[in-house]
Parts: sequence; C-alpha cells; structure tokens
Amino acid sequence: MTKNAYLTIDDSPSPHTKALLSALTAMDVPALLYVRGDHLANDMDAIIHAIERGFAVANHNYSHRRASDLSYEECIAEIIKTEKLIDEAYRRANTQRTGKYFRFPHVDRGAGGWIVDYDAAGTHGDVLKSLFTDGLNITLSPPSEADIAKKQALQHFLKTEGFTVPFRGVTLPWYAQTEMAEAYDCLYTFSNSDWMLTQRHLARDWPYKTIDDLKRKIDDDPWLHDENSTHIILAHDQPEIQDVTLATVRHMTHKGFTFLSV
Ligand SMILES: [Zn+2]
Repeated sequence: MTKNAYLTIDDSPSPHTKALLSALTAMDVPALLYVRGDHLANDMDAIIHAIERGFAVANHNYSHRRASDLSYEECIAEIIKTEKLIDEAYRRANTQRTGKYFRFPHVDRGAGGWIVDYDAAGTHGDVLKSLFTDGLNITLSPPSEADIAKKQALQHFLKTEGFTVPFRGVTLPWYAQTEMAEAYDCLYTFSNSDWMLTQRHLARDWPYKTIDDLKRKIDDDPWLHDENSTHIILAHDQPEIQDVTLATVRHMTHKGFTFLSV
C-alpha cells in the first residue's frame, strides 16, 4: 500500500534545523519549511543551508502572532517583512525561488480559531473542527463580521501578491469540497501533533503524551487511510521535539507513505 503526502514543517529555523534536515535527507523525505521571519532574521544560515540542500521555503509570518490579534495592516507588514528575508535567503543560496507559499501561525486566518466558515463547510464542519483543534477539547466561538471581513481581505492580499498553494491531488471531501481548496494560504489535512510533546505542553492536559501516542494517532486517523487522496502533513521544527518529529515521519514511511516535493 502506497500513499502520497507532502511533509510541511512549521516554525523553522530552530537550533536543530540542520540535524533535522540531514535526517530527512537520509530518509529521502523532501519537505516544505514554513519559516518564522523572526527566527530567520536570527539564523539565516540554517535556511540558506536548507535551500542549498533542496528544501523549499515558505512564509509563516514574522512574529508568530495570531492574525486575529493583529490588524490587517500589521499582518500584511509581517508577511512582507518575512518575504524579503526569504528572498534574501534564496539569493544567498544562489537558487531560484519556485513559488510563494504562506501559512498563518496557529492556522489563525484572521477570524480566530474558526478556521473555515463553519456554515459553508456544512456536513464537513465537524471533521474540520476536530482537525484544526488538533484533538483538543476547546470550544470555538463563531467569528464576528469584522473577523470574516479581515480574513477575506487577507485572502485577497495573498492572491494579489501571487501566493499559491502547491499541493496537488488532495481529494478528501472536506478539503476538496470546501473553502480549504480555494484558499490562498496553505492548510493541511493531518497534524502529527508533535508540538504536544514539548515540556510546556506536556504539563497541560493535551491528549498525546508519548511518541507511541502519536504513532497511534497516525494509525487511527480515518482519513489518512484514503489511498486515493494525497495528504498534507503538518509537523514542526522546534527545540526539544526533533526526535519526536522524526519518529512520526519514520512511522509514516513504514506505513507506506511516500513524501512528495512541491
Ligand atoms: Zn507555527
């Protein structure tokens, strides 16, 4: 059984980026790195190194603040500031950029925790809610009209600036038949929840505590079994969890996943 997936890694660079990427290269796994502008400004060498080794780099905004907590103007200023740093990294790596891709920090797209318009998602609403709350028991309140207007303005900005989504072949109904498929920011179809194993999150009451828990999450996810669809996997490049992240990717390769380049 073989299944196709894109590995997307948020929050790069970290002190472990080089080690993480050499382990992925050894496993023949390409990845798209969504970089934080503030981290990139502090350690551009790690991202130049990544580009030189064939990893694609995308924008994860500058300060990792939620778009709901920023004004529209602040949010686009952060996107532009991060774009300039990414362009510089590609220039210094002597590599042509193939596309502009963006993912909102916390997948907050400007309208709070409510990721897509719940009403428009119709029967898929519950799947989307559990995907984006990452298995957490949190209650999301619906966005205000101003939130929705900000979200739409940000989509328009991304479209106008030439941002695209590089993922092909995602046929899961709640992705292909909803706002997700038309978005100009990059979403995902499975979160490996690696971030839950950082010390500060282990201290909280989240559902996954061990690498075995995360492997079980992969094994039990009903949508990951769909061989006809390509999957978009969300993982992280953060201190403390490098081994966790790699263990989940390795588990997926053992389960027959092939990772695609964008
Ligand atoms: Zn992030």
